[in-house]
Amino acid sequence: MNYRRENYLIDSYIFSMRRGWCMSSACSTCGATKLRIHLFEHAIRNEISDDDKEELMQTTRFYPRTSMLPEAIKEKVIASHINEFNKIQKGDIEKVDRLIEQNSSRTYISGFINFIRFMVMDIWDSLDHSLSHFDRLKQLKCGISSIEVLGVVDEMNNHFQNLRKGTY
Ligand SMILES: [Zn+2]
Repeated sequence: MNYRRENYLIDSYIFSMRRGWCMSSACSTCGATKLRIHLFEHAIRNEISDDDKEELMQTTRFYPRTSMLPEAIKEKVIASHINEFNKIQKGDIEKVDRLIEQNSSRTYISGFINFIRFMVMDIWDSLDHSLSHFDRLKQLKCGISSIEVLGVVDEMNNHFQNLRKGTY
């Protein structure tokens, strides 16, 4: 199986690692913009014309951050990302790391799981902020069928819940 060809999330992860792109979803310096543009281009492909894209670029704050996109385009982007999520099978996160280790002279510390977390945050930030945490989580998970990705979502949520408990 050619992981890179069959899943643009895996491809984007490897692509951005090789170029040393920022993958931090909370980065206040660059906003992980290079990676976000790359992902947006993959998700939207030929669905909008170059003219429309140009206009979007002019009118969208923090282009192309998913949460800032117009509703219809946002939906397409999220659906596309989730479609890629759902190709990730049990054990694949580890498999991707091993694949990279074998084919690289450099050592990368990031790990594919961090990229998945970045993607989860991207979608999470795009969901309706007026929903309760529980409903938002339900909405996030409803399209995801990949056990592997759902595991990451649960782990992130547990981490969040523990942090919250710690603060109060
Ligand atoms: Zn950055």
